[in-house]
Order: sequence, then C-alpha cells, then structure tokens
Amino acid sequence: MTEWTTIVGLEVHAEMLTQTKMFSACPVVDSVMAPPNSAVDPVSMGLPGTLPVINMQAMDYGMMVGLALKCDIPPFNQFARKNYFYPDLPKGYQISQYDHPLAVNGYLDIELEDGTTKRIGVRRAHMEEDTGKLTHIDGGSLVDLNRAGVPLLEIVSEPDIRNSAEAEAYARKLRAILQYLGVNHGDMSKGVLRFEANVSVMHKDDTEFRTRTEIKNLNSIRSMVRAIDAEVARQIKLYNKGEKVIQATLGWDDAAGKIIIQRLKERPDEYRYFPEPDLPIVEVSREWVERVQALLPELPDARRTRYVTALNLSEYDAHVLTMDKPVAEFFEVVLAEGIAPKTAANWFTTHLFGLLNDHKVERENIGQTNISAQHLAALIKQVESGAINQTTGVKTVLPEMWATGKAPEAIIQEKGLAQISDVSAIGEKVADAMAQNPDMVTRYLNGEEKVFNALFGNIMKSLKGQGDPAVIRQILQEKLTAQKS
Ligand code: ADP
Ligand code: MG
Repeated sequence: MTEWTTIVGLEVHAEMLTQTKMFSACPVVDSVMAPPNSAVDPVSMGLPGTLPVINMQAMDYGMMVGLALKCDIPPFNQFARKNYFYPDLPKGYQISQYDHPLAVNGYLDIELEDGTTKRIGVRRAHMEEDTGKLTHIDGGSLVDLNRAGVPLLEIVSEPDIRNSAEAEAYARKLRAILQYLGVNHGDMSKGVLRFEANVSVMHKDDTEFRTRTEIKNLNSIRSMVRAIDAEVARQIKLYNKGEKVIQATLGWDDAAGKIIIQRLKERPDEYRYFPEPDLPIVEVSREWVERVQALLPELPDARRTRYVTALNLSEYDAHVLTMDKPVAEFFEVVLAEGIAPKTAANWFTTHLFGLLNDHKVERENIGQTNISAQHLAALIKQVESGAINQTTGVKTVLPEMWATGKAPEAIIQEKGLAQISDVSAIGEKVADAMAQNPDMVTRYLNGEEKVFNALFGNIMKSLKGQGDPAVIRQILQEKLTAQKS
C-alpha cells in the first residue's frame, strides 16, 4: 500500500427519456439533431406568470431508477428552488429537490477486475430540470433552450469509490441499469448522461476525509478515468509540497490531459434553496411504489446470474454479455436460433467483440452493424457442421459478413470456401509436404515433436486454409508413424 488512498464520490445527471419536459407539455427533442430553440415554450423560457406542472412519467422513471438502486422511497418528496444566475437559466433559478429527494439510501454493486464485487452506497436520487445549452463562439455565446426543462435525475453516490477503475465500473454499471430500464439511452456524447467526480485523497494516518474538489465537464467514461487520475496526482503533489487543496470546481481539458481550476465551490447556502411555492409536495403512496416496482424489467445483475445458473456460463462471460442490453438481446437471438450458450459465448467474446474493437464500434451498437444475429448463428452452424473450418469462418467469412451483410452460406458458395475433408485429397498433400521437407520429417522422428505443427501448417496452406484440421492431423500422424518402423 502506498501512503495515499483515493476517495471518490460520483454525481450523475441522467436525462429521463420522456415525451415532454419536466414542468410543461413542451416536447423533448434530440439535442444534436433538432434546430436550436425549436422545442421551447413559455415555461422552459421561464416567462413571468407561467406555472410549472409536474411530469408524472418523469417521476415514475426517477422512481424506477431509485428502486433499481435499492433506494428507500420516502413517503413524500418536495421540489425546491436553487437560485443562481446564468445565461442558460432564464428563470434565474432551477427547480430541483433539496431536503426531500425522491429516493435515498440505496446502493450499487460493482464488479472489480479481480472478480470480486464491491458495494457502493447511493446517497440520494432527486428530480430536477435540465438547463439550456450555451455555445461559445467568437464574439459571444449562443443560447439554445431546447434542453431547458428536460427532466433530469441526479444520482449521488457515497464517497465509497477508491480508485478510477472503481469509478469506471460504477459508471458503466449505472449506465447499464439506466439502459435496461429504458429511461436513458446512455449516449454521453449527446450529454444525456453526465458524470461529475468529487475527488480527495487520504493519508494513511488520517482519521477524517480531506478537502474534496469536483470535476465537471466529463464527456466520456474514458475522460472521467483520466481526470480522476490526474486530480489525485495533483492533490498528492500539493500535499507533498506542504500546500493545501482548496475546495473548488474543476474542469477537464481532455486534449491537453489537464485539470483546469474553474471557480471556488459554492456552498449550499449561496443557492438560497427554499421550497418551490408553485408546486405541491409530492405524496408517495405505497400503491404508487408497488406499481412502479412491478414495472422493473430484468436488470443486469439478475440477467448475469441467470446466465451463470441457467446457461452455465462463466462469471466473466455472463458479465460481458449482460453489461450492454443490446449485446444481451443479440446474444439471446443467437441462442434462439439453436446455438449452445457456451459456443455462442465464445464467438461473442473472442471473435465478435474483437471485430467491434477493430472497427471502433461500441458494443452497445452491436445491432447496427451488417452482421445480424441470424447470420451469426448460421455461420456458427456452418462451422459446427464442418461445412467450413473454424479458421475460415473467423478469418474469412465473418469479416466478409461485416463488410457486405451477406449470409454466410452465400459467401462460402461464392468464394468456394467449403472445407476439404476428402481423405485421398488430403493424403496427397500430406505426402507432398513430407517429400518436400525431409529434414522436418527426420527431426520429428528424432523426437522434435513441435515440428509436427510446422508440417501441419504447411499442409493447411497447400489446402488454402480450407482443410479439415482433424483429418489432416490424423493422416499426418499415420504417415509419420509409418516412417518410424
Ligand atoms: P454537497 O451537498 O455539497 O454537494 P455532499 O456531501 O452531498 O456535498 O457530497 C457530494 C458528493 O461528494 C457526493 O457524491 C459525495 O460522495 C462526495 N464526497 C463527499 N465528501 C467527499 C470526499 N472527502 N472525497 C471525495 N468525495 C466526497
Ligand atoms: Mg453537488
């Protein structure tokens, strides 16, 4: 152990995928595709005289997240005004929740790299409204209020996270849960899911937490990890020089890989929180909670457990196959086509994920490539039945399916890739290879067993990679043994 321990608490802002905004019937639109200020009404603009009305769908969604995170849902929650001035907030205040959030005291279990799980406390989850978006240009800033008033759930963790890898596991797991629930599609590049990291370090002799800083503007999980590592290093360096860490709001410059100090942290009393007078207290009946509880779908943990117990997959396979809902759904279609779970899992983890990686396609976009689950299942069947060999399937047919979207059978036909299992055809190639490489044969007969593989490779090459490996091995073995006597 080193002298310093990292302490991280994450604050996550997740837009809820509702049709309309948090406090009015104004539609919610895609922040990237929609023209600026095309989804704005008097309430989102904060015009005087307008009154907010609570979007109950958003409350249901928020409660679903709270329940999925094993939170308590208190008997009532209450909206509060958080007062501050900023050009993306025309009302001069944000309607949020403060003393009485929607959900409290939950947790999230994360899987660590060593295979163990760790429980991270979830302090609270509260409903609020999103602000508008500013675009800074030469000579000024542009205001887009499409996002103003979009339902936003803020999920606040306990400071239980001890390094950037745990922060990453927490972020990925939380994103997976939101996607499984269907309340957020998890696209950080569109800003619908945003992470802020609170970071401090603790000396091994400390008995209390030290001052924390808060890093904002993290627009990918990757940059969150880098920012936490950089901030921890910055804080340790300051302490080692005998200086202090000042509580501040920080930014992260991903290109430069640098922490930027933005402003000193506001204290809650500077926001002048007070109960929102235009909205009633929200009473939460047990019937309401039960109704929402019944809406919860199978979540990643349950699916993972099912893959281990019912499908006999390893913990690792079950984990990677369930982390992204679209991957799990794709996988289950392959199973429905009649492929054995373990076989299918191998194709996913070793071949399909490799292909996604090579093409820099996120796993969650698995459904948007040229390869359909039906075609993948068909390819696996071609290999299983011996119509083509495994290497041809992986190295030739799969990439061709990726490039063209054609069915594997068509590719095999067109390219003449069918496996050669014919004993006499293979026997000929084996004899050729042995005749052309007498030195290898001698070395093998003198006990150098690994030469077998070189001869095998030679023969496979002469069969353009399409030979049946088992048949080649058997004939080669026979012919070599025959030479011994
Ligand atoms: P505030 O109400 O001022 O935002 P909180 O105490 O509610 O502050 O904490 C906000 C976030 O900061 C939470 O995610 C919490 O886990 C985290 N946090 C609190 N103390 C520390 C600390 N010493 N180091 C790292 N994170 C912390
Ligand atoms: Mg905060």
